[in-house]
Amino acid sequence: NDIKKHTTTKGSKKRIATTSLAGCFGCHMSLLDIDLGLLDVIELVDIHKSPLTDIKKFTERCDIGLIEGGCCNTDNVEVLREFRKNCDILISVGECAIWGGLPAMRNTVPLEACLSEAYLNSMTSEEGETIIPNHEDIPKILNNVYANHDVVKIDYHIPGCPPNANHIWNVVKHILFEEEYTIAYSEFKYD
Ligand code: SF4
Repeated sequence: NDIKKHTTTKGSKKRIATTSLAGCFGCHMSLLDIDLGLLDVIELVDIHKSPLTDIKKFTERCDIGLIEGGCCNTDNVEVLREFRKNCDILISVGECAIWGGLPAMRNTVPLEACLSEAYLNSMTSEEGETIIPNHEDIPKILNNVYANHDVVKIDYHIPGCPPNANHIWNVVKHILFEEEYTIAYSEFKYD
């Protein structure tokens, strides 16, 4: 348990932000899994930009950014860089964020073959279908799915799929308030 001490933004109530990149939202569901414990958490922290609050833009700097999912398209990269710019500490939460997770299984197949299988040759493709979606408003798919630390500096990783809810919040409280805790092996959760 050698988490380093960090300087956080001033003020008694700390701010966190969260986002889901190439993930399944399971890590965000886990964040909510502390049930009434959430009432204690929101006494300590404000949740700023996040799918949980539906706040879309950073208007204030945040102490911690929790990132679910890795980077599979140009939008993921842009959002991740925005989080790096606006958060003091970035944490990759869950296997998709840490190494790409399930979406990274496509890294073993060339992108073209992957898109053809999904859009032209799948069981639900229409006869004679020839179009792979491609429009300037649609984020470009990257050749590979990348771990977040391949794109920006990540300060901490919380393993699991999804990580146990108490584990996530214990890490957040430890970083923000230096609260002591230990992680039991059984807390590493892979559902
Ligand atoms: Fe979903 Fe697991 Fe990836 Fe979290 S780590 S986004 S729960 S697949």
